[in-house]
Amino acid sequence: MPITAHNWGPMSRLDSFIRRLQAQRACLDWAAAKLQHLPGHVLELGLGNGRTYDHLRERLAGRSIFVFDRQVAAHPDCIPSDERLFLGDFGDTLPQAIARLGRRSVALIHFDLGSGEDAASRALARRILPLLCELMKPGALLIGDQPMELADLASVPLPEGVFPERYFMFMYNPA
Ligand code: SAM
Repeated sequence: MPITAHNWGPMSRLDSFIRRLQAQRACLDWAAAKLQHLPGHVLELGLGNGRTYDHLRERLAGRSIFVFDRQVAAHPDCIPSDERLFLGDFGDTLPQAIARLGRRSVALIHFDLGSGEDAASRALARRILPLLCELMKPGALLIGDQPMELADLASVPLPEGVFPERYFMFMYNPA
């Protein structure tokens, strides 16, 4: 019998971490293919180690990718140029991005905010959602590690193999 999460006892932190990375790759690969015909900027919220930024950079070569974090602590090969980096709290830098990039200029937002504290991460996601909606074009994708709720956001089915609630995908469809 193949070993799966269902017949191999409780999920370890290693299992959970692997699933998270697999979910990120599957969702970002899906988005890169889906967005071929929707021009626009790409935003990466949460540079962290730079893993998902590096993946986006590879899959979406040619797009302008802007990165947001309160600090730079990434692998040296994965640090964006100063012009592509919004450094500071999202609550301060997203309004700067709206002013600089323009409303409705973004085709994909990937957000990876999780601090390990669920309530705080969800509250942060709720706080920044109105700003993200100002940036997204109709048809833009919003993909990340927190649930988001708004009438203008339609849930998008997760790619095969991604466990429900491990990652979240939405399309921005303003009324
Ligand atoms: N996507 C990254 C990767 O693949 O390496 C991991 C991102 S890590 C889980 C989350 C990042 O979000 C951290 O680097 C943290 O500094 C940043 N962050 C969390 N809350 C923030 C806030 N309110 N403003 C700016 N950055 C924030």
